[in-house]
Amino acid sequence: MLDVTALQVRYGAIEAVCGLDLRVGKSEIVALLGANGAGKSSTLAAISGLASWAGDILFEDESLKGRSPEAITRMGIGLVPEGRRIFAGLTVAENLLLGGAVHASPVELRRRAAQMQERFPVLAERRNQKAGLMSGGEQQMLAIARALMAQPKLLLMDEPSLGLAPQVVETVFDLIGSLRDEGITILLVEQNVPMSLDIADHALVLAQGRASVHGTTAEVAGSDAVQSAYLGH
Ligand code: ATP
Repeated sequence: MLDVTALQVRYGAIEAVCGLDLRVGKSEIVALLGANGAGKSSTLAAISGLASWAGDILFEDESLKGRSPEAITRMGIGLVPEGRRIFAGLTVAENLLLGGAVHASPVELRRRAAQMQERFPVLAERRNQKAGLMSGGEQQMLAIARALMAQPKLLLMDEPSLGLAPQVVETVFDLIGSLRDEGITILLVEQNVPMSLDIADHALVLAQGRASVHGTTAEVAGSDAVQSAYLGH
């Protein structure tokens, strides 16, 4: 579904991603792991059209080169950004509507927003409250629901469990599993390596903008680098 070849992302003199190859098959979860600053968010920014890049990115065999973030959303790629980036001063309902605004009619938007509120009862309870007043876990649910409003085929998730209480982390990972079961393909950037390796089909560890380890989650979990750096063995 997603085929990234020789991806490069630069910020002036900083080479954040240097020649990355990455493939994500339909209905798979692929975990993109690595230390802070390894280039994970920059990879997601390139795929979403939010950073300029070189190399090739194909989504369902179509090149993303030169496409705007809006066009990429319309093709079926959604982003749940790092730090959630909800609109704190807008209500929960307004945040949801913005998530689908790129390509749905007002009637269709309201239908999808109602579906989201059914799926996430906390969003229904809080629909008229300012989103910034919700807890971190609730804001994460809103950020995911907002991305789902555009009905993505591929969901890019940037550290969805960051800063959440352990019980909420479980809820977020359960939700990721359900989305995959519903047929949504997921590229998951995470600091929680054990839970990511548990849920994903394939994994790739980035180090200084390059893939240091990649393969099935069993292969990656068994590698010396991951055992010593992330799994504490
Ligand atoms: P983190 O988990 O800390 O977000 P990451 O793996 O997602 O890390 P990136 O955020 O992609 O890594 O950053 C890769 C490199 O690019 C880092 O050296 C970072 O400082 C740099 N970088 C990221 N965004 C910018 C930017 N907008 N301008 C300049 N440098 C940037």
